[in-house]
Order: sequence, then structure tokens, then C-alpha cells
Amino acid sequence: MEYVDHVVDLVGNTPLVRLNALVDGLAPLVLAKVEYFNPGGSVKDRIALRMVEAAERSGELKPGGTIVEPTSGNTGVGLALVAQRRGYKCVFVCPDKVSEDKRNVLKAYGAEVVVCPTAVAPEHPDSYYNVSDRLVREIPGAWKPNQYANEENPASHYHSTGPELWRQTEGKITHFVAGVGTGGTISGTGKYLKEVSGGRVKIIGADPEGSVYSGGTGRPYLVEGVGEDFWPTTYDRDICDEIIPISDADSFDVTRRLAREEGLLVGGSCGMAAAAAVELARRCGPDDVIVVLLPDGGRGYLSKVFNDTWMSSYGFLSPDHSGATAGDVL
Ligand code: PMP
Repeated sequence: MEYVDHVVDLVGNTPLVRLNALVDGLAPLVLAKVEYFNPGGSVKDRIALRMVEAAERSGELKPGGTIVEPTSGNTGVGLALVAQRRGYKCVFVCPDKVSEDKRNVLKAYGAEVVVCPTAVAPEHPDSYYNVSDRLVREIPGAWKPNQYANEENPASHYHSTGPELWRQTEGKITHFVAGVGTGGTISGTGKYLKEVSGGRVKIIGADPEGSVYSGGTGRPYLVEGVGEDFWPTTYDRDICDEIIPISDADSFDVTRRLAREEGLLVGGSCGMAAAAAVELARRCGPDDVIVVLLPDGGRGYLSKVFNDTWMSSYGFLSPDHSGATAGDVL
């Protein structure tokens, strides 16, 4: 019989899928690392597993304890899965820009969700960072993984994502592209790929216009899960060779094209990363192998990126990608 003991055993080893229409006419091979194949539906399953295991070993997380974390959803799902398996409770703190669909997913896995305003500074008492700190003080047996400062976050990518990419491309990868949120993905994967290739692999971050990584101040943007208004310690400033800023409009346009033209129903930060990969591919040659990491699936964004009314309300909908047009008979 072929089975695993628990879905948590399926974290990692996600497939590489070639991009076709999106990079039509461009020289390099462009591959997507499709992280929605993780059991919780995102790249964050990787960090959840490693952070919990490390906290159990260090004694920070004790049997029957509660995991408290500010999360835009994906880290919460990963933590909730691991928590279920090991008998912990979960309380997650989300900014209000996170879609209700995503919050309901966390509740479905059995977590409690606390919602905080997006439009306040990180030092404000109602910011989602401060609310989670207060909950950690108030709940007995609480442990905060703190994905923004936990070295196990980049370490999970150093030990899983990086080696997987090297093996899957048989060492032929020349460029790695990923969006930057906590910076864990790009820092851990990038560190491994630089080490194993003797510095040959180039690491390219994709960042929402306005975020600190591409020189902004944290100006608001709509794409979820990426960009910051501060510099987390999980981001290693020595790893990225280049950061490409991408507008919300381009992020969402490419997100919709990934679904319509590549069969990949993925989230807005995936479109952002893929937009950066396309920009990079224009400057690369036929021997180059670009891998772009797509962090999550698109089902959590059906009422936003994939909703024509929402898109139009921000002026994002271009006529080419608007779904059915007036002339269509469906
Ligand atoms: N995309 C999404 C949807 C995310 O939730 C995250 C994590 N915040 C990222 C991208 C960025 O990954 P990282 O935190 O490893 O930089």
C-alpha cells in the first residue's frame, strides 16, 4: 500500500512546471516552482514545520501549548496543520486587508483569528505585530514563532527548497526569482544555491513598488504576502543580486495570465514574481534556466484578483484579460 501517515508528511518536494505562453519568444527556459502543491497550499508549510520542530527541541513550545503568530494566512495554515498533528492550539493575528476567504480557511483548520487594521504603523498598539505580542503575554503556554525573526524560516529553505531546485534542474539553474516578504524564501534558497554553485546562480528578488526592499518607505500596495515597511532579520541583505520592483497592476495582470494561459491558478504575489521573471528573461540567453517560485494558490483571492468588479474598482482591468467581453455568447 502506498500512503503517508499524515498530510504533514507531504510538505516540500513540489514540482517544477515550464512556463510557455507567458515567456513566448524569449530565449531562456523559465520554470515555476509551484508551491501550492504543499498540503496547506503554500510555501509556508515548509517554515511552519521547521519552526515548530525547533521550538519543541528548545523547550519553547511545550505539550498543550498555544501557537500565536501575526500571519497573512499562509503561515497560519502551515502552523495549524502542524499544530493539529502535534496537539497545539493556534491563535492568528491578521491585517484587515487579508481576504475573508483566507481567514475562514484558518478557522476551518481549527484556529482562532484576530483581525487588526492595516492602516496603522508597526509601533501602534493595534498593529498586528503588537496585538500578537500582547496575546503571547496573556495566554499561558503561548509561543510565538515570529517568522520575521526566526532563523528556522530561512533555514527551512536552505535545507529544502534550495536542494530541491539544485536536484530538479540537475545543477543547471542560473537564476532564482522570488517575491520578498519576510525574506525567508529568497535568503535561505539563495544562500544554498550560491554556495552549491560557487556563486554562479544569480538571486533576484521581486518586490511591490513602495516596499522597503526596492527603496520605498512602505507605501501601501494591494498585493498580499510580500513587501515590508521594515527590515526583518530573516532577510539577508548579502544574498540578492538585484531587486525588481513590480506595480500592483502588473502583478495582478500576470496573475490572471498565469491562470488563463498557463493553467496555474495562483495568488497575486505569484504574478508579481512571474512578472519579474519575464522582465529578467528578456535580458537572458538560451543557456539560462530561470526558476521562479510561486508561493500559493489562487483560491484565496477569488473575490479580489479574479473578481472583475474588484479589479475595475482599482482601474486594473486591461481589456485583454478581462474574462468574457460584451460580444461573447457563453
Ligand atoms: N507570497 C505570499 C502569498 C506569502 O504569504 C509570502 C510570505 N509572507 C511570500 C510571498 C513571501 O515569502 P517570504 O516571507 O519567504 O519572503
